Amino acid sequence: MPDPKDLKQCQGTTCGYIYNPDKGDKKSQTPKGTHFEELPEDWKCPSCGAGKKFFKPMG
Ligand SMILES: [Zn+2]
Repeated sequence: MPDPKDLKQCQGTTCGYIYNPDKGDKKSQTPKGTHFEELPEDWKCPSCGAGKKFFKPMG
């Protein structure tokens, strides 16, 4: 299991959507506590549909 302290938010460069690992992503049924890196490769931004490569870690 990943260390919860390492949870990083990631922001989409296309629409500004922020993926928050503390909350997961309801639209893709991603449970809270899921690292951005753990999202499936075909995961898409719930806001604009951009792929993971368009996201950058925050902080
Ligand atoms: Zn987006």
